[in-house]
Amino acid sequence: MTADTLSEMYSRLMDHFGPQSWWPGETPFEVMVGAILTQNTNWGNVEKAIHRTKDAGMLSLEKLVDLSPGLLAEYIKPAGYYNVKAARLLNLCHCIVGHGDGTVAGFLAQPLAELRTQLLGVKGVGQETADCILLYAAQLPVFVVDTYTYRVLSRHNLVGETSDYNEMQEIFMDNLNADVEVFNEYHALLVQVGKHYCRKKNPDCNSCPLNGL
Ligand code: SF4
Repeated sequence: MTADTLSEMYSRLMDHFGPQSWWPGETPFEVMVGAILTQNTNWGNVEKAIHRTKDAGMLSLEKLVDLSPGLLAEYIKPAGYYNVKAARLLNLCHCIVGHGDGTVAGFLAQPLAELRTQLLGVKGVGQETADCILLYAAQLPVFVVDTYTYRVLSRHNLVGETSDYNEMQEIFMDNLNADVEVFNEYHALLVQVGKHYCRKKNPDCNSCPLNGL
């Protein structure tokens, strides 16, 4: 039943919005940096911060890991909360260097469970950020849950009001095949429906592709 509903939801969203091809980023490391920078801000600001860092020739693990928190904060300023995010980025860089063979590729090539535990051990990396890195940078089949996911699922009575991150993630991972491409698109499509129709206030159910589901 839930599996059918989730499949129907995916089909309708894909038909309506088309493929989203997330996550924007030229390299897995850029995706990881974006996953930290996007916390509490919109993507436009993240792009500015990434371009600034890239234009300065600093958007690589080797360059970033040696930067002082103050200088890194200057580069990423457009993303907001730049001191906090600079510290988080440096924490992540030190984690990458300290595991696997010390490279981004080696770090991301570790088994999923180990990698997730290591990411969650980084101060400032919560479940959503860790899972974005696992799905979009490491290309591992992990479903990313965010506030849009919660809103859509709860409004369709697929989760209760008190459901936590793990419960919502399990709904997708227990009922869908472990397919990186589908998980990638599904997360992106839920963000789209949340932004355009399933708004926090005044959801536009009449025009929404999920109406009647
Ligand atoms: S806007 Fe309405 S129909 Fe669309 S996802 Fe939200 S609750 Fe469902």
